[in-house]
Amino acid sequence: MKTTKKDCPCGSGALYKDCCGPLHAGKAAAPTPEALMRSRFSAFARGEVGYLVRTLDPEHEDRALGEAALTLALRETCSRLRFMGLAVLDARERGDEGEVTFRAKVFDKGKDVSFTERSEFRRRGGAWVYVGPLPERS
Ligand SMILES: [Zn+2]
Repeated sequence: MKTTKKDCPCGSGALYKDCCGPLHAGKAAAPTPEALMRSRFSAFARGEVGYLVRTLDPEHEDRALGEAALTLALRETCSRLRFMGLAVLDARERGDEGEVTFRAKVFDKGKDVSFTERSEFRRRGGAWVYVGPLPERS
């Protein structure tokens, strides 16, 4: 697949400014759990840490760190890892609950640490947030 710098890191094929850019800038809200998932991936890729904090469930366990420590931890993750590609394998939503299964291509100092996750999302006050990973489907 041919990519240019203008392509959104979420792999949609759209330009960043027409895709995840407006979400990161707070000019638009993700309409679906999949859009939120994609925008969080591209936020990791671009180091948009504020967006990652904003779209994390208020009840997520990492909130216990406090916003400053959480921001620092995310910044560290963004600078250490290279977020190379995303494939959404499955996405569903029902009412204010959603889940997305994805494969993220990630490298840690040249080492392949890619992973597949089934993530849970929830709509709170009209906006989707990331709740956390769900157990593998049996
Ligand atoms: Zn995007």
